Amino acid sequence: MPFSFAVIVPAYNEAEVLADFHARLGAVLDGIDAVSQIIYVDDGSGDDTWQRLRSLADADPRVQALRLSRNFGKEAAMTAGFDEVDADAVVIIDADLQDPPELIPELIARWQDGNDVVYATRGERDGETRTKRFTSAAFYRVMERLSDTPLPRDTGDFRLLSRRAVEALRELRERQRFMKGLFAWIGYRQTSVVYHRDARHAGRTKWNYWRLTNLAVEGITSFSTAPLRVATWLGVSAAGLAFLYGLWVLLKALIWGDPVRGYPTLMVVILFLGGAQLLALGVIGEYVGRTYSEAKRRPLYYVESRHGGRPPFT
Ligand code: UDP
Ligand code: MG
Repeated sequence: MPFSFAVIVPAYNEAEVLADFHARLGAVLDGIDAVSQIIYVDDGSGDDTWQRLRSLADADPRVQALRLSRNFGKEAAMTAGFDEVDADAVVIIDADLQDPPELIPELIARWQDGNDVVYATRGERDGETRTKRFTSAAFYRVMERLSDTPLPRDTGDFRLLSRRAVEALRELRERQRFMKGLFAWIGYRQTSVVYHRDARHAGRTKWNYWRLTNLAVEGITSFSTAPLRVATWLGVSAAGLAFLYGLWVLLKALIWGDPVRGYPTLMVVILFLGGAQLLALGVIGEYVGRTYSEAKRRPLYYVESRHGGRPPFT
């Protein structure tokens, strides 16, 4: 029995690759026995991504294009796609051809086996530096230790979701969205398929180490309160050590008298305590900031315009 199938593609300044990408994705969809739909979400691109998406939508009835009112980030663009979609199975894929559309039939096969989330795990990777590989491995290791939600390793956002997984995801409206964590958090039956990740086809990556570091902080603080505990333990042990040291100084003064010395020890104690306090404050600030931005309850994105086919199966 044919099912309804949709592909969500967040695109930010991807004009160069869109035609190639669409040709490859279209060819894959032709081979699938399903009522297919492609939702492109233009995340406020500055180049002519939107014009190209409109012409794709005019030429191909499967295409629906959505333009956000500004660049909200990939996570918001994906959310916009999830809010829009209505299909039995949904695949989310990057526009830059780093995720091979040819893997989609395999994802679908796993879904038909009864899995709700099928994520694609990267095997070896081309076009990525040793440092990038090392830092991302380190990040997953830290996350694994800190968080209660196990994150699948070496997984991007390329994955298939069943209808009920999409519905679950739609209910998570937190502003600080660490998608990889959210995907794992919803649970259901999850499985993986291994693939080979290509280097970017054209255009440039929008990630740099600054954005990646922020994403890592995002991931850790969204899914773990361990840093708060670290601050507590640091404070407790600093205070304990300071107390013992104070006792020792007192005893020493009582027994041997107190020549005026001790400038170095004084400095060490002050600096150490000052440092520990600042660290704890920073960690608390991180969570307070998070509470603040959640408390505002702002919408995650605005749609500026739409173009092309409404879902054929509604
Ligand atoms: N993207 C987006 N909004 C952004 C940044 C990226 O929609 O603010 C899209 C981008 O067009 C691509 C996908 O997210 O389809 C992955 O982006 P990129 O290739 O820059 O990330 P990487 O593959 O390096 O992780
Ligand atoms: Mg990419």
